[in-house]
Amino acid sequence: MPRDIDDRIIPGTNADPCAGRVRWDPVRSIWWTAMTIGWVVGGTIWFSWSAVAVFLIACTFVLCGGHSLGMHRRFIHESFDCPAWLTALGVWLGTLVGLGGPRTMMRAHDLRDWAQRQSDCHPYLRHGRGRWHDFLWQVHGRLELDNPPHHEMSPLYRASRFMQLLQATALLQQIPVALVLLWLGGPGWVAWGVCGRVSIAIFGHWAVGWHAHNAGHHAHPRNHHNHGHCTQGHNVRGFGLITFGEGYHNNHHAFPESARLGLRDDQPDPGWWVLCALRRVGLVWNINEARP
Ligand SMILES: [Zn+2]
Ligand SMILES: [Zn+2]
Repeated sequence: MPRDIDDRIIPGTNADPCAGRVRWDPVRSIWWTAMTIGWVVGGTIWFSWSAVAVFLIACTFVLCGGHSLGMHRRFIHESFDCPAWLTALGVWLGTLVGLGGPRTMMRAHDLRDWAQRQSDCHPYLRHGRGRWHDFLWQVHGRLELDNPPHHEMSPLYRASRFMQLLQATALLQQIPVALVLLWLGGPGWVAWGVCGRVSIAIFGHWAVGWHAHNAGHHAHPRNHHNHGHCTQGHNVRGFGLITFGEGYHNNHHAFPESARLGLRDDQPDPGWWVLCALRRVGLVWNINEARP
């Protein structure tokens, strides 16, 4: 089973990670803007503390169970095994993040991973511009490479009609969630539990991505160096808990196949704790764990 993106990215002879241009992506841009306006306006009009609680609970399930465990550690890296229904649940939750379906996420991840390991790449792919320039690029735009590498989806995706359905209906997956929240708690629960959650997840994904690839004046620490790679990941200080472990990006560059992202005692990794709990009850096995 291909656990490595080397099986999925096929550079050929003329793939070039540098040449290309960033264009406005209307769907992405309007999607995030609409969700943010819905949150600010609706979340104020129909404010309630129960709506804030729904927001926090929904963020935890979607970001930890979905983005980090389901989509990234399981679907993209296959760094542990679990029942098919649990993979499907995790990838559905990961689609609810609002950044796109499983094919969108895998392609974006693999292209970035490949580009950052080359001797140079387009600044879009390494978060190489100033933060607000990069915000406009990542949240409102997309990169069109002149000669992108060929990308093949994993057998896990190609064998799953469910994941292909998620890909085709990625943004629409918010609708059933919105209807349930509307029925249970009214429009305030939708404003916080859907609009607020999607808005903050997309913004946070960009913010962590920018800090994870820029040492800057924050001097985010690194324990590992990948020789010859144009981009080194950084462990974003103070973001371990709130990103459920995804902030330890220097560790991830050094050990991409590891299901454990926080590798030291002072690197709390909530996603890893959930995996260990699931292993104890027999729902997760064959965990790949880096031991540097
Ligand atoms: Zn990276
Ligand atoms: Zn990864």
